[in-house]
Amino acid sequence: MPTSLVTGGAGFLGSHLCEALLEKGQRVICLDNLETGSLANIEHLRSEAFAFLPRDLTVHVDLAEQLDFVYHLASPASPIDYLRLPLQTLKVGSHGTHNALGLAKVHRARFLLASTSEVYGDPQVHPQPETYWGHVNPIGPRGVYDEAKRYAEALTMAYHRQQGVDTAIVRIFNTFGGRMRPHDGRAIPTFMRQALEQKSLTVFGDGSQTRSFCYVDDLIRGLILLAESGEHMPVNIGNPDEKTLLELAETVIAVTATSSQIVFEALPVDDPQVRQPDITRARQLLGWEPEVSLEDGLRRTLASLAGDPARA
Ligand code: NAD
Repeated sequence: MPTSLVTGGAGFLGSHLCEALLEKGQRVICLDNLETGSLANIEHLRSEAFAFLPRDLTVHVDLAEQLDFVYHLASPASPIDYLRLPLQTLKVGSHGTHNALGLAKVHRARFLLASTSEVYGDPQVHPQPETYWGHVNPIGPRGVYDEAKRYAEALTMAYHRQQGVDTAIVRIFNTFGGRMRPHDGRAIPTFMRQALEQKSLTVFGDGSQTRSFCYVDDLIRGLILLAESGEHMPVNIGNPDEKTLLELAETVIAVTATSSQIVFEALPVDDPQVRQPDITRARQLLGWEPEVSLEDGLRRTLASLAGDPARA
């Protein structure tokens, strides 16, 4: 039975990944310092095949148990978190990624870096293929996240080229689903919370900026397919079905059947105007594409919130 280490395993995506790996019959070690994750996300996973290590990945970590896969997800991910934790974000992208790669090297494990569409920064090429090098503002408030991930990608390729570590890089585009924190500042949990509380939905700018939202189950399936492939170069995983923020707000209103209205607020600094993955490589290399529509994903998210009011 293969063993996977999931750093950031008590977070939103990490907890879904741990769950999927356990369902595949793997042993899973979840390492997390609970900075933005929580024990509530992994409570239901407790079993002999699952271990939780409460550790800060920026500090050196040794593991006696043999590892086959290292999924490196530990990092603040929501703007609200990385603007609050700028130095920790840079440190987990640098020291944390060094430590995770070091573990993969020692154990001869396959390593997967959870990178982000934010490495593309301002998308002057649209949709964004993996060959687009990006246009990032290194000194803006979001630079701590974008540059940490760009550094982590460079580090991953250096460990691969110089140290022979078997690495993969996934560039994740906006993903949503159950266990997102209602106050994490990202559009879908914010709109859902506002709709369920019958409050106005706050759309930034005029709502014409676009995003492409991928349901969590689709994303996790893509992550595992990539980890189990032999690919080393970055692969976009996300849903190319692009929507404006206004369309998203209207869909949330329809799905939640709320009486909430939409109000408009100022755009955050360096907020990208458009975002859409080119998933040609994922289709060709992994046979992967998303299956869950935005509306269906929102219904499933709503159902999971109803099942656990603590996370609604
Ligand atoms: P999250 O905040 O829910 O999860 C991140 C986890 O990492 C948390 O459990 C947190 O406690 C943990 N962590 C942070 N710093 C740590 C440290 N120093 N040591 C140990 N654990 C630490 O965020 P998420 O949405 O699940 O994102 C997971 C990964 O996916 C991140 O690397 C993020 O950059 C990437 N990603 C996510 C999205 C998305 O739409 N959710 C999009 C692009 C990239």
